[in-house]
Amino acid sequence: MAQSMRTRLLRYYQGLEHTSYHSDTVHRLTLPFVNRLSTPISTTSKPIKRIPSLLEFCGGRQYTFDSPVSSSAPLYFPSRSYVFNDLLIDSSPSSVFPQLLPHLTCIKNFLLTHHHEDHSGSFGNILSHTSITPYMSRETEAILTHPAHTPYFPMFVYEHLLYGRPSVIPSDQLSRVISFPAPPPSSPFELNTIDPETKESVPGYIHFCPGHSPDHIVYHVPSLDLLFPGDVYLTPNSFFFRSDEDITRIIQSCEYLIELPSWDIMLCAHEPVYSGGKESMRKKLDYMVTTRDKILSLYAEGISEEKIAQIVFPRATKLRAMFILCGGDVSPINIVRSTLFGPLHRDGVKKSLAGVNDEVLNPLSRTKIEIE
Ligand SMILES: [Zn+2]
Repeated sequence: MAQSMRTRLLRYYQGLEHTSYHSDTVHRLTLPFVNRLSTPISTTSKPIKRIPSLLEFCGGRQYTFDSPVSSSAPLYFPSRSYVFNDLLIDSSPSSVFPQLLPHLTCIKNFLLTHHHEDHSGSFGNILSHTSITPYMSRETEAILTHPAHTPYFPMFVYEHLLYGRPSVIPSDQLSRVISFPAPPPSSPFELNTIDPETKESVPGYIHFCPGHSPDHIVYHVPSLDLLFPGDVYLTPNSFFFRSDEDITRIIQSCEYLIELPSWDIMLCAHEPVYSGGKESMRKKLDYMVTTRDKILSLYAEGISEEKIAQIVFPRATKLRAMFILCGGDVSPINIVRSTLFGPLHRDGVKKSLAGVNDEVLNPLSRTKIEIE
């Protein structure tokens, strides 16, 4: 019964996808103080002196690594963009674009890790206002540029509230986008940058790491021990998922990145780790595997999905109001459901990826649990 309630709630939200998208009323509801909430609370992280050309943008503010921003943000997750050499990694929400624009004059390429609005919100602005070449996976391009998604990629109401409306994607500029099919692990897609000081080429590699979303890529710079994992890491101890997150593929992607040599600094969009990044990724992997096994074992005992979520994620009860505001699209129970049944992808994403990459939407084979 509870499950069908949740499915109905999600359907209701998905029904709002398109109407909310074109609604000025919803756009005006964008919280005006969101950027203020992302003000650094303390500076706990260490500067990265050896990458002087790196800039970090967070919640409309710009930081260098001489004054790094704390990663603590209890409710609102500020989403970071990085300027690395002549490459911009992720575009931030559209509200950040005015702050980003002055720093884009020396930027040649733009890499989008995945389609989520806090990463892609300024993609349209970049196409409209710069001559930068955007790179993304074929899956990301399919999702963002699907005819049903123009002029904006659809979002739920709570996403509008947090991040505002994405910028309009100009269809006459889409031929500039360079997309590529998911590269096999043995031969990742190469995208080099130019060091502005030495003018030398710095090799960089794109790896396909789905799970957080079906189109997710990461960027690796082995010569600097540097990884830009987008949202693959996100947080070390996630106690909630979006309904479309795939725990099995997240575990696979973490395993893959741990095996990948030559990286230690992990500049993710939400919780950067300035040293010991691989160790942090390993801790996240251990946590996800332990969590998955706990869920499977409780379900095998006949315990309901809701009760499992309460047992495994007791901290989550404090954030109940937030999960209700998200209409169930963000919730601890989504980790339970992803473990047991696989992710629940949004209709727009399923339509976009049909014929492009159907496989990444299907749940991988998982342990069959029978209830007595
Ligand atoms: Zn994301």
